[in-house]
Amino acid sequence: MQINRALILGLIETCHEVIASHADDLCELDRAIGDGDHGTNMRRGCDAVYLDRERLGALPLPQALETIGTMLVMSVGGASGPLYGTLLIEIGRRLGARQNGADFANIVGEAIEAVAKRGRAQAGDKTLLDVLYPVHSEMVRQSALVHIAERAQQSAQLTAGMKAMRGRASFLGDRSIGHIDPGASSCALLTTAICRYLKEYHPA
Ligand code: ADP
Ligand code: MG
Repeated sequence: MQINRALILGLIETCHEVIASHADDLCELDRAIGDGDHGTNMRRGCDAVYLDRERLGALPLPQALETIGTMLVMSVGGASGPLYGTLLIEIGRRLGARQNGADFANIVGEAIEAVAKRGRAQAGDKTLLDVLYPVHSEMVRQSALVHIAERAQQSAQLTAGMKAMRGRASFLGDRSIGHIDPGASSCALLTTAICRYLKEYHPA
């Protein structure tokens, strides 16, 4: 139980910190191809979760993830809220349903598919999925955490070459090319922060 609590609190604090310190950068990316609020949106969601961290830390991991996902859907606003929310809700549900410590990479893969379905988006559409899919493929390969983080960052950079097919940026058509997708960037930041945290996490 203690391990659970420490892990949940640590992940919440890590994600809160990385979004708070990069909120301005994320807004700037969103100003170029969207409406400039991605950093503000993500920050609002992370603040809500952070404020509730003591309650969340007392929950079993699957329920904590589901609850955090629901909070993100309700508090983030913008397209990214329901997408990040769906990811966490689906991971939490699946973790809870499979008692035998089922393959975490498979669970994440199924949750990413639910995100794609919710956003009617696919790989190459210049969205956060263009980070989630490569991260998942590294997980399937059981790559080292540091490698997963590097892949996430490279993948976010690669969205600059893509034309946006979903979300607000798609209104720009070809003019979206040349800019990094804000959602892909927040996803890479979060992945990197989580990987770094897990690498250093040594439960007592
Ligand atoms: P909004 O576009 O409503 O202002 P945000 O600025 O918070 O919301 O989030 C924008 C990000 O959400 C985009 O950069 C993209 O990564 C992601 N996104 C938007 N629409 C979709 C979609 N249909 N499928 C997947 N991701 C999407
Ligand atoms: Mg926006």
